[in-house]
Amino acid sequence: MDIRAYQKSDYTQGQNIVIYGAGIYGEIAFQCLRTWGIRAYCFADRNENLKEKYGLPVIKPTEIKKIDNSVILLASVNYLKDMVEFLLSQGVTNFYNITELLEAEIETENMSEYQQDIMKNKGGYQFALDNVFSNKFTIRNIDLVITEYCNLRCRDCGSLIPYYKKPTHIKLDEILSPLDNFLNAIDELYELRILGGEPFLYPSIGELLDACGKLSKVKRIVIYTNSTVIPENMIFERMKENHVVLHMSDYGTYSGKVKEIQEKCLEYGVDFYVHEYNEWRDMGTTELRNYDLDTVKKIYQICDNAKCPSFYRGKLYICPRAAHGESIGAFKNSQGEYVDFNKKTDTAEKRKELMALLYERDIFSACYYCNGNSIHAKPIAAAVQL
Ligand code: SF4
Ligand code: SF4
Repeated sequence: MDIRAYQKSDYTQGQNIVIYGAGIYGEIAFQCLRTWGIRAYCFADRNENLKEKYGLPVIKPTEIKKIDNSVILLASVNYLKDMVEFLLSQGVTNFYNITELLEAEIETENMSEYQQDIMKNKGGYQFALDNVFSNKFTIRNIDLVITEYCNLRCRDCGSLIPYYKKPTHIKLDEILSPLDNFLNAIDELYELRILGGEPFLYPSIGELLDACGKLSKVKRIVIYTNSTVIPENMIFERMKENHVVLHMSDYGTYSGKVKEIQEKCLEYGVDFYVHEYNEWRDMGTTELRNYDLDTVKKIYQICDNAKCPSFYRGKLYICPRAAHGESIGAFKNSQGEYVDFNKKTDTAEKRKELMALLYERDIFSACYYCNGNSIHAKPIAAAVQL
């Protein structure tokens, strides 16, 4: 089955356009439709607490089939396959992909840095689309943790990095060998996100980039930096050679090197984007909460970090907090809540474990020690220092 791209000429007067997915792809689809002079009818999203977006109602996915004269635009990457399966299970077939919309001539100045990055690198959506009906086992993204060191001490760090008493850099071979075992178990990884701590504090970052640049199953490499350290020129050369994209977090006065790093990126031809963070969501302390089963399931279901699997010390965890929370001794993950790639083993077995970790669970022990990262968590100032 082919999922056709929605074209401007597909629009007819009175047609009710449902944007399925109220996250970042939904926002982009909404804005691109506007440049075509078309107003969407509503959003649909599995987050039941979200009632309104851009002045439009947000309905539950189960209500989509009740809308007359509708077309459904698939506006997600992480959930694209689930969305298609869900719509088909409901007998709904009038859905379209948004590849053509993503080509709309749009003023990017009013878009967030994330939105701009998506408009520039449309491969993520195409990657998800190509995999809806394929038998390939592909993963959208993983965070690769290379160091526990950071030169900031953000109280509300999503990775709990300031709570390491004795941080260490992870040895290069202890990163690369398990990563190789992981890649052997899958067909493709769209985005490898290199982070820490602060990755530019990692002494072997150059060698790491050269090694990652050779991984044929990895389609895109992104480094996440807190913009406090200007790497040596040789690192910019390696970023360029290995087609690395630099994501610079800008925490105002704490991120003192934004301008200098930007200039270096321009000089060396490294793709970059700067994301200003004023606000985070309060994921809270690592104390055990008194959640009942339904509550914890809901927290996990709508948590944005639940789609950021974290590869730390050779194991893949559901999110950074699950990885680091265990490492700092706050809680323990149970069997099946991570996949261990430290030893070379049967890849079919590992693939099964990965599928179970990423697609078959509806709660994780770590979520009992967390508020979740969603629009329902309390907003707090970003990067408050300890
Ligand atoms: S800069 Fe990033 S890694 Fe470092 S403490 Fe702050 S949020 Fe955590
Ligand atoms: S709610 Fe669960 S998945 Fe989300 S950040 Fe917390 S521990 Fe991770």
